[in-house]
Amino acid sequence: MNRGITNQPPIGVIWDVDGTLVDTAELHFQAWQALCQELGREFTRADFAATFGRRNPDIIHYLFGDRLSCHEVSELGDRKEVMYRAAARSTGVQLLPGVRTLLEGLHESGIRQAIGSSAPLENINLIMELTETRRFFESITSSEDTQRGKPDPQVFQVAAAKLALLPERCVVVEDAVAGVQAAKAGGMRSIGVTFVGHHPEAKLRGAGADVVIKNLEEISVETIRILIGRESRVVDSPNVLP
Ligand SMILES: [Mg+2]
Repeated sequence: MNRGITNQPPIGVIWDVDGTLVDTAELHFQAWQALCQELGREFTRADFAATFGRRNPDIIHYLFGDRLSCHEVSELGDRKEVMYRAAARSTGVQLLPGVRTLLEGLHESGIRQAIGSSAPLENINLIMELTETRRFFESITSSEDTQRGKPDPQVFQVAAAKLALLPERCVVVEDAVAGVQAAKAGGMRSIGVTFVGHHPEAKLRGAGADVVIKNLEEISVETIRILIGRESRVVDSPNVLP
């Protein structure tokens, strides 16, 4: 493997999963729909829009009110995740445009890569398996590793620590405003990706993304090196990077 510029300290890329590596929104919709069907409640697109990106206990309270115990809420959340993984296995998942090329390029260049996701480890492992990407990642940080969700920087701080890298040596790739805010709060550079369309470009830029792009075909290994090597500032496109 070409370890790139060997006299430079190592750098890393920390990847969000849902909406960044893969688009899993429809699988989550199917899982909530199946869970609600078992419990005799409809789950509509409006319900999905109202709850998208929220934690499972919050969504379950939204759907079923406050009559459930903590244990029941937890069990329903677990059941939904089982249904999500079943949907992922039967439907399959594809990497988003540019992802595999960038994963391979970073790997070949000796840039360390990690996952920093709010999803459960079992879900992340399944995505790695279905997309055959496990070999690219030196560590995985999942919901089990953190107590606080994005925009708290904890998930990325843990991921950077697992890579043994300082925050300023890491670039986070994210599709969500809360994720970009988390990267910024953690002292890391960030790339906002708008491809799945849940968070518009202006909001990602407003959250502090150093670069906002449509998809990862616009990002090269060199872009990552440049991002690490300069002061943080918002730019319109990676094409205008110095
Ligand atoms: Mg995401």
